[in-house]
Amino acid sequence: MLILNSPQVVQETALRWKRESKVGLVPTMGALHEGHLQLVRLAKTYSQRVIVSIFVNPLQFGPTEDLDKYPRTLEEDVAKLEALDVDLLFAPSPKDFYPPGFSTRVRVNDLSSVLCGQSRPGHFEGVATVCLKLFQTTQADFAVYGEKDFQQLRVLQQMTADLNLPLSLLPHPIVREADGLAMSSRNRYLSTQDRKRALAIPRSLKAAASQARTNRDLPVSHFVQLTRDALAGEHLEIDYVELVREQDLRSASPETLLREVKNPRLFIAVRAGSTRLIDNLSLAEESS
Ligand code: AMP
Repeated sequence: MLILNSPQVVQETALRWKRESKVGLVPTMGALHEGHLQLVRLAKTYSQRVIVSIFVNPLQFGPTEDLDKYPRTLEEDVAKLEALDVDLLFAPSPKDFYPPGFSTRVRVNDLSSVLCGQSRPGHFEGVATVCLKLFQTTQADFAVYGEKDFQQLRVLQQMTADLNLPLSLLPHPIVREADGLAMSSRNRYLSTQDRKRALAIPRSLKAAASQARTNRDLPVSHFVQLTRDALAGEHLEIDYVELVREQDLRSASPETLLREVKNPRLFIAVRAGSTRLIDNLSLAEESS
């Protein structure tokens, strides 16, 4: 596996590869877990050349967020990617990727301002900017994104369509621990007690999905309240619980019946101790 930190060298390498093969990209912030590795495996089924990027992107962290505390485990990450036979690891430093004078920002309106966009102002601008730069640097024909960060996926789909970017985005379902908790690099910061409490997140999503299967004539407010109660019962500090349409990520009004919501998806963001956790689940009829 090549390990490179220069955007120019990565671009030259990718342009060479593209004469013979499609190039797939899996963007990450490192501290790799099985969820990331499944994205890599999916990428490998679509092309001979797979690039993984590891970059803890300062642009997407707010001033009071965990940029400095974010786990960095490069040595272990390299071993995991080598075992999967990844072709290239692009691991730039912030100075490699944002040299002095870097001044461009990409903003995707509307989709960036709801859900996590409300509690993390500027977050999706940082995400869109880094991803467009990663797409250009790696010349990727496709990039794989996890539905764990469903809003990120929707923002990037919108950017890709709006700017006619010549790449496709492949979604990957959420990868969970055996007990249901969505895998996340931040899970390692949970205390034993918070780790147990956090199980209320997947449990409440599953309970909502199970009710959605049996009765689609219940109002949106019912599903939101059910979920909020289950989370509050475990003393998780709720940032938001919202039932939204996948297309625009806008909340359906509380009295709307579930069956009237097109592609409904339930989103949760909570704090367990000082760790922010997110999760989501489709409540669409066909996903039940
Ligand atoms: P991150 O390193 O957290 O920025 O994540 C990099 C990519 O991995 C993103 O596309 C995430 O959505 C995806 N990802 C992270 N955790 C999971 C998971 N548990 N299941 C599926 N995809 C994931």
